[in-house]
Amino acid sequence: MPLTQVREITPAARLENVRYAIRDLACVADEAAKQGHKILPLNIGDPLNFDFQTPAHMIEAVHKAMRDGKNGYSPSSGIKEALEAIRGEAGRKGITTIQDVFVTSGVSETVDICLAALLNPGDNLLTPCPDYPLYSAVLAKLGIGLNTYYLNEDDGWQPDLGDIERKITSRTRGIVLINPNNPTGAVCTSAMLEQIAELARRYNLVIFSDEIYDKLIIDEDPHIAVAAVAPDVPVVTFGGLSKNYLAPGWRVGWGIASGEASVIGAYLEGVNKLLRARICANHPEQYAIKAALEGPQGHLVEVRRKLRSRRDLTVQWCRETARVSCVAPRGAFYAYPSIDIPEPDEVFVTELIRQKHVMVVHGSGFGQRIGTQHFRIVFLPDEKTLAAAYSAIGEFLRERYA
Ligand code: PLP
Repeated sequence: MPLTQVREITPAARLENVRYAIRDLACVADEAAKQGHKILPLNIGDPLNFDFQTPAHMIEAVHKAMRDGKNGYSPSSGIKEALEAIRGEAGRKGITTIQDVFVTSGVSETVDICLAALLNPGDNLLTPCPDYPLYSAVLAKLGIGLNTYYLNEDDGWQPDLGDIERKITSRTRGIVLINPNNPTGAVCTSAMLEQIAELARRYNLVIFSDEIYDKLIIDEDPHIAVAAVAPDVPVVTFGGLSKNYLAPGWRVGWGIASGEASVIGAYLEGVNKLLRARICANHPEQYAIKAALEGPQGHLVEVRRKLRSRRDLTVQWCRETARVSCVAPRGAFYAYPSIDIPEPDEVFVTELIRQKHVMVVHGSGFGQRIGTQHFRIVFLPDEKTLAAAYSAIGEFLRERYA
């Protein structure tokens, strides 16, 4: 017998605020699955769960890199050919004042490093509400309180400029834009980007522009990068292979830093310090970056065709269903309908899994204006699967809220 007994190890108090609703529902689904039910997962934005495949030439590029012995560490900011390809891509996006590019293990790591390199205790960063919960999780990890600005449902989920300006304090260091947006599917207008850039100039903010879905614009109009609209403003544009290039499991993301060298240079030294401290991103997978960005883009035509048809089906269902209404998504593969129900949306979502075995994510998991309720749908499944899911949700709404 040891002389002293071991005691419980408690996690850091700052983790209290770390929530990731998209995966936190998994235990409710596991319970239903154990009872023999097949769960329809409309909760995770992974195209590979459905009828989408990573382009073969990208797989071949990684395979070749592994066979060629590229299995050691890479330079901290990424391999040369990938960095050149990302600079080329930045140019095609209209970004002219590139100061640095770097490769990370998914955009998740780009966010982690870029935020950690900027924020001191007491600083704050404006993040959208609703938001993709990675941002609030990283801020919680850094011990930085939330300062959220609203996206305006009545304005097609565009950022609420008045709210942004009201929330800026002397300690606000930057603003996060998610464009195209997760969870709303909205795409920022160029007028909106110009106005946000003007606020960034006036208040000396860094813009973090998460453009991981920039090639998944469903309608015709092209995506506009804020860094192209505002070449003088310090911007870090995030991109990666997870969504546009259908390889989320490879964990490949990148950052493109732009603006004036004299303004952003010192900050980028901080970013590079952190890039070196974590050694490097996944090495063989970096060989897919040039293949993806400079190789055939044919898969995107097919992806957008599928997304358009599935988005239209989703919007149609929302229009026809009592208690549900939705701003039509214009990019990515998410819809964020509002629901008029007499109980919290978390209860709605949990009971929907238990009773109909359809998994969506509650709006309170992303944040929403007080007094409103929503849920997020991932409309990646094929039309037949989506129609079955919507029929089950409709039935649930009628039965529960008659
Ligand atoms: N940013 C947004 C807006 C996302 O929706 C996601 C994933 O769903 C990520 C970042 C994470 O991307 P990655 O797979 O490159 O880490």
